[in-house]
Amino acid sequence: MGGDCRTAGARHKRVWLAVALAPAMAVGALAIQQAAAARAELAPAAIPAPATWPDDRITIANLGHATLLMNFLGSRIITDPTLFDRIGLAVGPLFTIGPQRLVAPPLRPDQLQALDVILITHAHMDHLDLPSLRALPKRATVITCSGCGTLLRPLGFHDVRELRWGESTAVGDLKVTAMAARHWGKRWPPFGRNYGFNSYVIEKREHRMLLACDSAMTEVFGALRDHPLDIAAFSNGAYDPWIWNHANPEQVWQMFEESGARYLVPIHWGTFRLSREPLDEPLRRLVAAAGSASDRIALRQIGGTWTLPEVLPHDAGIANSGAGN
Ligand SMILES: [Zn+2]
Ligand SMILES: [Zn+2]
Repeated sequence: MGGDCRTAGARHKRVWLAVALAPAMAVGALAIQQAAAARAELAPAAIPAPATWPDDRITIANLGHATLLMNFLGSRIITDPTLFDRIGLAVGPLFTIGPQRLVAPPLRPDQLQALDVILITHAHMDHLDLPSLRALPKRATVITCSGCGTLLRPLGFHDVRELRWGESTAVGDLKVTAMAARHWGKRWPPFGRNYGFNSYVIEKREHRMLLACDSAMTEVFGALRDHPLDIAAFSNGAYDPWIWNHANPEQVWQMFEESGARYLVPIHWGTFRLSREPLDEPLRRLVAAAGSASDRIALRQIGGTWTLPEVLPHDAGIANSGAGN
């Protein structure tokens, strides 16, 4: 009996040890995997030079995934910043468990120039990235969805504004209005708190841009036709098998056309592998869907920069297109 007890006790100890060490071993394995995978990152196609962008134009750079850096007629904006090699769960300051970038960040945080506004559409890990936000200047105004303030204020930002759909706020003479999308707002799906999700309409001096929040197919953007948009940025990627949360390229083109915008900026492609479709498929299918209007698709390279052509008024058509890189 006594021998059996001792054997059972030793077995228990071994089980406990294994349970206790498993997370540490998993983290260690991921760290090794991360170190090995870090070598596979490609260089971006170009490097933006935001210091040279004029304040009387709308200039946009694609920093990868959903991160756009913009000079919007003098207002400097960044959207959903992911500026480091990984997104996911940050474990201390040293590393993050989650998907690794396939293309290196085109700019470091200290190369972004001054920022007036940080736009956060929702709390998904690939949009609200805590390490990236920690690295940004805290004097910038953060505009976000109705529940995201609790994640953002502890980072030290002085001005965090939560908007519900239909609400607007102004930063200087830049107006930002929140609107709907077909998406969801839980940070740890399918569990936990719903932080909400926002698309945004950015306006200044009668120029307007839509930043559509990771939307699946929906008719809501058709409501914007009456006050034409210059630009609409739609997420174009992560649709296989997530078609109920993300639009496929044909649906993106349809929503873009319904929005009445002149130029389409596709985002959310080619940076992180979040889904099953081949990496080059989203842009290829989008260009095919656009057919003879494909010159309205701007910013097709990670690291690319594009400036809105000066064509006014809005009903002048697409006379002077040039999709840039
Ligand atoms: Zn999302
Ligand atoms: Zn996303």
